[in-house]
Amino acid sequence: MTSLSLNPAQSESQMCAELAQVLGLPEPVSTTVLQAALASDSYARSLLASRRTPQMLQMLLASPPRRTRPKVEHNTAELIQRGSRSLLTWARTGFSTTDPVEREARSQSCLQCPHRRAPGASLLQATRSELGVCGLCGCPLSRKVSMLSESCPGESPNTPGINRWGQAITLSEPLY
Ligand code: SF4
Repeated sequence: MTSLSLNPAQSESQMCAELAQVLGLPEPVSTTVLQAALASDSYARSLLASRRTPQMLQMLLASPPRRTRPKVEHNTAELIQRGSRSLLTWARTGFSTTDPVEREARSQSCLQCPHRRAPGASLLQATRSELGVCGLCGCPLSRKVSMLSESCPGESPNTPGINRWGQAITLSEPLY
């Protein structure tokens, strides 16, 4: 069964169960915790770091931060599903981050990309914290460019088989 066959409610509950599995919990996390982990890197990291300290983990699970996810033109359930997959993959790689050179190169590619959505910010004046979201996958770019496990979903207009970040396109990464 693939995730595409799930309805939105099933997808979200599956993601809650998978996040619980990553955290070593017997029961799925709540949808509030899942959404908070998607919206906040520091909260997601704190959850993972507390896996072996049950008291701290329970405290974090009981008090997720309020959501600050930017509005984008994507189906909410689809975004949650995609964001959850991305978060779980990142968690499994130990929250590995890109080095400054790689991060800057990705940021520059996104700044010049026609798929970027930056509500409220001039494209030329945008700083990294104002990168906005990727119009293809709906991910917040400031987070996406920092996550080593992430890849760009847009094919290079000049080089077939290569994405806009200069990575080889693999079958596991959907293009839009
Ligand atoms: S398609 Fe790639 S380069 Fe364009 S905004 Fe999305 S992640 Fe950035």
